[in-house]
Amino acid sequence: MVMGGKGKSYCWLSLCLLGSTIVNIYFLSDLYIDGKGKVSWSEEGAAKAEEVASIYCSNHGRAYLDGVIGEDGKPVCECHTCYAGSDCSLLLPHCAADVDRGAHGSRIDGYGSEPQVSVLKISEPEPNCEGVLRLWFRFQNRRFRFWFRTGGFPTVFHSSKSPVFGGSGSISQFRGDPLFLEPFWMHHASSSAVLISGWHRMSYSFPGPTPISEVLDSHIRRIHHVAKNALTDGKYIVFGAGSTQLLNAAVYALSANLSSPASVVASAPFYPIYKSQTDFFQNENYAFKGEASLMSNASYANTNVIEFVTSPNNPDGNLKEAVCKGPNVRAIYDHAYFWPHFTAIPSPADEDVMIFTMSKLTGHAGSRFGWALVKDEEVYNNMMTYISVAEIGISRETQLRALQLMKAILRGDGKEIFDYAFEKMSDRWGKISRVFSKSKRFSIQEIPPLYCNFFDKVRGPSPGYAWVKCEREEDLNCTRVLGEANIIGRAGSRFSVADRHVRLSLLKGDDDFNLLLNRLETLVDEEGGPEAVSSF
Ligand code: PMP
Repeated sequence: MVMGGKGKSYCWLSLCLLGSTIVNIYFLSDLYIDGKGKVSWSEEGAAKAEEVASIYCSNHGRAYLDGVIGEDGKPVCECHTCYAGSDCSLLLPHCAADVDRGAHGSRIDGYGSEPQVSVLKISEPEPNCEGVLRLWFRFQNRRFRFWFRTGGFPTVFHSSKSPVFGGSGSISQFRGDPLFLEPFWMHHASSSAVLISGWHRMSYSFPGPTPISEVLDSHIRRIHHVAKNALTDGKYIVFGAGSTQLLNAAVYALSANLSSPASVVASAPFYPIYKSQTDFFQNENYAFKGEASLMSNASYANTNVIEFVTSPNNPDGNLKEAVCKGPNVRAIYDHAYFWPHFTAIPSPADEDVMIFTMSKLTGHAGSRFGWALVKDEEVYNNMMTYISVAEIGISRETQLRALQLMKAILRGDGKEIFDYAFEKMSDRWGKISRVFSKSKRFSIQEIPPLYCNFFDKVRGPSPGYAWVKCEREEDLNCTRVLGEANIIGRAGSRFSVADRHVRLSLLKGDDDFNLLLNRLETLVDEEGGPEAVSSF
């Protein structure tokens, strides 16, 4: 067959295309695979990550890739509260059990309002106890370094300070600490690890109309399906930099286009950020008006109301329902703790606006990732506008990490994390309850056993917080009473109730929980005075 001129040029074109494809495959395979079926460019990053993860911190701390570099050129161990030394093996004797910062928004208000010092590292003492001891500690978001002369009462002869995190906002104040899940993730080290290439999603946009990973969206829906805690069909999803951002995005969205400003309310005891954030961002569309039950039924008829409903509640673990009802009332359901970890799931939630957070599902508070499930398209669009104006979308690295964690959760039947978290939290609750059951001076909240849709049986409580009440008439400031026993809790007034109540976080790591338990046992044992203790 004789080819015409057109046929010849098609043939050349095909040959060129084939050639270029072969060259591309050659170069790409060189970039991704070293030819022996092994990884290439990721090897260095993976090796560094594993090297730092293997730095020994006595199981009382961790070293991180982005941690401060020590004299040996490696990141230093960041010790848990009350532990110090270069390998965190030193238990500081009179250190307070800090169970305040179980969640966002802690102002250090433990014992009165004294600021907190946390020891980061102490240099090894000289063998003859003569010489210099160096102490690194953190105080109000700043890292300080002191040199002591040892061999006698230590005297400070030099100090320096440098910002730990930069900026003026105190990061330590905003430290969420749901570290109880850390052992779970260490057990699932390989399935949860994520390696980010230097060119990962450099663009502002994802393919598609929104800056949201569709794959992550579908994994979130699958997790709700496994946990049986929320209906997602037909609902929109909005991602936020933590659920904190979504709380205000929801207030903005629900108050836009109203004929008169909305009163934002919540029923006490309530999570303090509702007030502080609403006050901070207040505009002509809304204002925080405090206690929901103070709004009379008649006032709903004339006023637009937005109620924050926290279920289960922070601080007391109650499965709350909206107090305000009526056509002008809109509710924002904060379901941060609505997971089998912390509560029975009576039935899947199906509210108009529901907010969840990775901080309490996986424990990754530091990744700052939350999501809202929204029924109404206009509310969804308003929330997306808010996120877009505030952030131009949520960090692509955060979305990638969230996806990897969700994938790890969904391996097998996807139930392991819920079983693990429930076991752990109910064990902690059992231990705490036993201590308080011996006390006449203190009590904690009662949470009745309930049918749980996830476990398909009646189950006991496993809340994230103990809501402690000082029963003695004279103990008006319960935070102070616990503070005298070296336990730092968060005062009731932070949750808009009296200081006879104090919240203790049960979400922290094992070291913090064990210290708390230990201090509480001593406190309760000493209730009847020193004689009572010695008579045991
Ligand atoms: N809602 C409640 C009830 C909380 O306790 C918290 C903090 N743990 C948040 C929202 C905020 O969580 P994040 O911003 O970490 O998602």
